[in-house]
Amino acid sequence: MKGHTQSIAIGAGKGGVGKSTVTVNVALALLAEGARVGILDADLYGPSIGKMVALEHPLREEDGYIIPAQGLGLFVVSLAHFSLGEQATIVRAPIANQIIGEFLHQVLWPELDFLLIDFPPGTGDVQLTLMQQAALAGAILVTTPQEVALLDVTKAHAMFQAMQVPVLGIVENMSYFEEGGERYYPLGQGGGRRFCQQHQLRLLGEIPLDKAVSACSDEGSSLLAKHPKAVASDVFTQVAKGLQQGLLQGKSSPVSIKKMTSLDELFIEWNDGMQSRYPWGELQQQCPCQRCRHKKQNASKELRPLVKVKNILSVGNYALRIEFEQGCSQGIYSFELLRKLSKVLL
Ligand code: ADP
Repeated sequence: MKGHTQSIAIGAGKGGVGKSTVTVNVALALLAEGARVGILDADLYGPSIGKMVALEHPLREEDGYIIPAQGLGLFVVSLAHFSLGEQATIVRAPIANQIIGEFLHQVLWPELDFLLIDFPPGTGDVQLTLMQQAALAGAILVTTPQEVALLDVTKAHAMFQAMQVPVLGIVENMSYFEEGGERYYPLGQGGGRRFCQQHQLRLLGEIPLDKAVSACSDEGSSLLAKHPKAVASDVFTQVAKGLQQGLLQGKSSPVSIKKMTSLDELFIEWNDGMQSRYPWGELQQQCPCQRCRHKKQNASKELRPLVKVKNILSVGNYALRIEFEQGCSQGIYSFELLRKLSKVLL
């Protein structure tokens, strides 16, 4: 994956709310603005992106790497391309985690601006693995206005927050439909807006129920190209704009890195003038990934003062991921965490 690709999770509390539909249409709206966009369909329980995007070039393997499929101008890798996709409901977490690992590290993506990751709905082990390994710049949550969907999206929101992934906003899908000049709200009204007010989140858009949306998905064609005047097309374009604004706002967050060097240790000068030093071994010992946090009691045995570092990657505008030569490299070190650790270490 190229360094400047922004990976965005598209998540939902439950299935059937239109998460994949939103993923494809937001990808197409970004593409219409001239961005290079890929979709990673990691929805283990119903990988459907391949059907929604008519693929002109199939996925291939070359020298042990996966070369993405292509359709409608998007680059696509889907779990459905793997034979296990069909038995998804019985895929157990360890196997799923292994597949996800392959997914993330063996795909040769072309140069991309955005990689939208269609997350499995819910808050399980696979979602955690994806969050730890995918270096997410942010997440969008999709819900319907229905109370049950909102209840579940609350859990998904808490999960992304716990993993320090900025939630860029909520998309309410199936908000209403129009007939004979009247608006009907079969799944309730205003649920997404209320949720956003309660959680200080941005409502990125309210998408109507529209036959054109499902028909384009079934045909594998682009709603934006086929029905450019449809309200839904306009809302998807607004969602794509809101997503980009959310990412930019992250950039102007109060803490950011002004200068960074990494030789025998990591040195950071922050934008407010604070300077921090982090010996590698101690930084690795503070690894915030789920597994290391559980193993904390053994951490002292794992301290490697001479540990070396292969690479430092930016994660969105809010964190770093450090690839160590040995031991765990899964931790996402948010700026907030690094600031706290600098007090401990100095
Ligand atoms: P999820 O990924 O959350 O499981 P999907 O994106 O597969 O959900 O959508 C579920 C079904 O609802 C699909 O048949 C899709 O075409 C349809 N659908 C989703 N959003 C809309 C909409 N706004 N208008 C009409 N049909 C929709």
